[in-house]
Amino acid sequence: MLGIARNADQKAIKDAFRNLALKYHPDRNKEPGAEERFKEIAEAYAVLSDPKKRAEYDARGFEGVADFSREDLFNGINFADIFGGLNFDFGVESPFDSFFRRRRKGPLRGANIEVDLYVTLERVASGGEEKVRFTRPVTCKACHGTGGKGGVAPRKCETCGGTGRVAYSRREEKEHVLIQQITPCSACHGRGVINEHPCPECNGSGTVEQGETLTVKIPVGVEEGMALRITGKGMPGPPPDGIAGDLFVVVRSLRDPRFERAGADLLRTVSMPITGAVLGTTLEVPTLNGSTSVIVPAGTQPDAILRLEGKGLPEFGSDRHGDMYLRIRLEVPEHLTREERELYERLRAIKT
Ligand SMILES: [Zn+2]
Ligand SMILES: [Zn+2]
Repeated sequence: MLGIARNADQKAIKDAFRNLALKYHPDRNKEPGAEERFKEIAEAYAVLSDPKKRAEYDARGFEGVADFSREDLFNGINFADIFGGLNFDFGVESPFDSFFRRRRKGPLRGANIEVDLYVTLERVASGGEEKVRFTRPVTCKACHGTGGKGGVAPRKCETCGGTGRVAYSRREEKEHVLIQQITPCSACHGRGVINEHPCPECNGSGTVEQGETLTVKIPVGVEEGMALRITGKGMPGPPPDGIAGDLFVVVRSLRDPRFERAGADLLRTVSMPITGAVLGTTLEVPTLNGSTSVIVPAGTQPDAILRLEGKGLPEFGSDRHGDMYLRIRLEVPEHLTREERELYERLRAIKT
């Protein structure tokens, strides 16, 4: 249910590409549409064979890879390597099938939904379950999705025949040309149907917003903005047999008054009296799971940064931990007692 699936290994993808490419290469296949198909196959291979492009595609579909130029798409593909030993074993179910299914029947898939989930730094450190609440439209029960009161389906608009558009034609006598103008149908406002008695539950839309709560598993060290994909929890697919889109839960760190997050590192600013920096001192500093003592060496400068190794967050997908960085701010006293003033005066006298 979680994470972005990366099934189909590179060898399977390469084999499938070679087979399809050989089948549709314009030099071999003279059927109409073969060349177009060949280009699509090459494009699909370019995306699926590159882990970065593949991730973009898995996460955002075609939008994710639409910006790549042909050069970007095809660089790094070794065609000689692929076609080195010819293989004519066609017709197997391949990872390309789902790629094309998605492209060709894209409109039948509901849109994806994205929802932000804010988690504490402790949760980032430990991983574990979190509840995520989101709303999405579901079919209205009162009208069974028809949008008409009592489930009566709205009738097709007679003016436009259900297309939602009307074409006006006029002939320009002088030019002998036919001018055709297409405008939205005014009888149905471009909807193609007329809903005389809209369902009061959904205002005729056929869907109602429904809140849902899901439990998601946060991986240890989850990175800022990382998306967890939950299949089938997006917008419903268009009728009659569209499939629902996916839900993307974008994990973000809650603001923490103690630390600022920078990847797996934690940053904290500590203020201390100037004497501590001059003479050296020990500070008690909070960590994610308690506190730790830090030795500030004598002669520490303003804005010095002390690094506490391994006191940051766990790094995603590794055994390492980030560090904690302490920025030292020195407090210059604004008001002095008489005794302090005397001591500072003496200090100045010694220095000059
Ligand atoms: Zn309804
Ligand atoms: Zn109409």
